[in-house]
Amino acid sequence: MGFLKDKRALIVGIASNRSIAWGIAQAMYREGATLALTYQNDKLRSRVEQCARECGSELVLPLDVTDDDQIETVFETLGKRWEGIDIVVHAVGFAPREELQGSFVDNTTREGFRIAQDISSYSFIALARSGRSLMQGRNAALLTLTYLGGERALPSYNVMGPAKASLEANVRYMAYDLGPDGIRVNAVSAGPIRTLAASGIGNFRKMLDFNLKAAPLRRNVTLEEVGNASAFLCSDLALGITGEVLHVDAGFHAVALSGAELSDN
Ligand code: NAD
Repeated sequence: MGFLKDKRALIVGIASNRSIAWGIAQAMYREGATLALTYQNDKLRSRVEQCARECGSELVLPLDVTDDDQIETVFETLGKRWEGIDIVVHAVGFAPREELQGSFVDNTTREGFRIAQDISSYSFIALARSGRSLMQGRNAALLTLTYLGGERALPSYNVMGPAKASLEANVRYMAYDLGPDGIRVNAVSAGPIRTLAASGIGNFRKMLDFNLKAAPLRRNVTLEEVGNASAFLCSDLALGITGEVLHVDAGFHAVALSGAELSDN
């Protein structure tokens, strides 16, 4: 069996078979974890149920992370079915499409900023609070997904930049707070991958092309690579790691942006 044998994982954020959460679910299933999946709304339900069939998951629950009652219900349901939870994956992000293009200063509205922060950042804290008692004392791990746009400015990512910056700060504060309970909190900062959420970002194709040329590995990353690193971070192989943002981006974060233009190859 794999390195997640006997682990029980809640995966939040599958919308399609291109979702990063699906890459993570597949890696965790392969390594022996038992999975529960959630779907945001009825439109996504059948797709998530199909994913559940493919990864042996018998628990598929509705969860809109803006609704505290739904969050509570998910953990209550899991508490009745499982003796505890070892892993919670938060692969959720959203900002209104009109905010993800053009001028950051002109296009960022008060409401758009609030929505991006609530869904993409605050919800990670809300999941941790509701799941805490089920995760205590069992080397449990929380994981979220972030992007380099939270550390550096880039065109079109706009209001998601501050949302990811606050999400990464959450990782550190949550790690400090939950450490005494034996709960680790980490993030994977993934390179660009073509998903539903990514399609909302203006210039996304250009981001993919630029990453491919500038990254040390001269390519983009795959769902499988992000899934594998996420599975590792949530496993007992990573028991000494918390409060960390691990870049899985073919090394793009490590080079200056002008590198691609200066390079001979
Ligand atoms: P995706 O569209 O497949 O997943 C986004 C998920 O967020 C969907 O499952 C959607 O249902 C969910 N979601 C949005 N609002 C929600 C709500 N109110 N309640 C519950 N769920 C909600 O896209 P993805 O690219 O797999 O995104 C997953 C995470 O990875 C996001 O945090 C995203 O910012 C991050 N990320 C993506 C990339 C990329 O290039 N695709 C790179 C780095 C980080």
